[in-house]
Amino acid sequence: MSLDTILITGAAGFIGFHLSKKLLEQGIQVIGYDNINSYYDVNLKYARLAILKDYPDFIFVKGDLADKSEVENVFTKYKPDIVVNLAAQAGVRYSIDNPQVYIDSNIIGFFNILEACRHHPAEHLIYASSSSVYGNQEKTPFSTDDDVSRPISLYAATKKSNELMAYTYSHLYGIPTTGLRFFTVYGPYGRPDMAYFSFTRKILAGETIQIFNNGDMYRDFTYIDDIVQGIENMLEHPPAADENGDRYKLYNIGNNHPEKLMYFIEVLEKCIGREAKKEFLPMQPGDVYQTYADVDDLVWDFGFKPETSVEVGLGKFVEWYKKYFIPQVCPIVYSAK
Ligand code: NAD
Repeated sequence: MSLDTILITGAAGFIGFHLSKKLLEQGIQVIGYDNINSYYDVNLKYARLAILKDYPDFIFVKGDLADKSEVENVFTKYKPDIVVNLAAQAGVRYSIDNPQVYIDSNIIGFFNILEACRHHPAEHLIYASSSSVYGNQEKTPFSTDDDVSRPISLYAATKKSNELMAYTYSHLYGIPTTGLRFFTVYGPYGRPDMAYFSFTRKILAGETIQIFNNGDMYRDFTYIDDIVQGIENMLEHPPAADENGDRYKLYNIGNNHPEKLMYFIEVLEKCIGREAKKEFLPMQPGDVYQTYADVDDLVWDFGFKPETSVEVGLGKFVEWYKKYFIPQVCPIVYSAK
């Protein structure tokens, strides 16, 4: 199997940036594709891209997944051996009021990726799904064998749809596909729309943080390096044909160790060195009580499971955050190249 050229969509995003950087460090050619949307701080996306553009093997193409001809052109021009589709409209809460963009990016966009893989066969298509497909499930840990036919947000519905579409394309056209259900990913260069990121900003600014369901929630927080390692392990290992001849697989990538939200905040406060002002609010629509990844398949197939504790992971995040956002601690000026 050839690792010569990898197409990573969403390369200006949180996970895409870290994966691209790790592969570029090994001398692998990465084609990054992203529309640099303004869902959150665009400067952060340009800062990530500025780092990637320092690697000679990085090529960036600005384009939209929902534009079929743009996607097609990238495949025609670069003929990727492996495709990692991370571009999507993320966020559960945002999907409640902004459904259209989820259909455009996550359904039409993913369809365009599948079609491009059909016409320009890649050796492996890996794509991001999400733990949100499990909804408010009581049985833990969450297994990829569980019934997830009742998504409680449109975001989750688009991710479940991606899994179904991927199965069909694997079955009909023999495209080897691996879907990854990520569990609450956090770390340096992370997403400002996610709770740990906004909590950090607010705690440092002395503002009040909003805690939903009165803090009675559990999340399987997963550190970014573990996610990247998990994807890397799979790149050259597309699924073998199952008993029906289909080359289709799904994995959870999560810490397999859920933390109570209040404990997570306590660790964050310790890392920052300041106590948060807290406001307790009811559960938000679309939110779930707990997430908890069963990672037996990951261990079985790759001898790997995420291991980073929130104490270590949040420590690294806060260290990065202070350097990046507080210039008097460490002056850094990023600019788009
Ligand atoms: P992100 O928002 O940081 O990255 C996504 C990138 O995709 C962004 O840079 C955005 O500009 C780009 N993008 C969005 N729509 C696009 C389109 N139509 N065309 C081209 N580019 C587009 O998100 P992330 O946290 O890096 O997530 C990566 C993937 O993992 C997403 O599919 C997300 O749904 C999934 N996921 C993330 C988490 C998490 O906790 N971070 C959890 C579960 C699933």
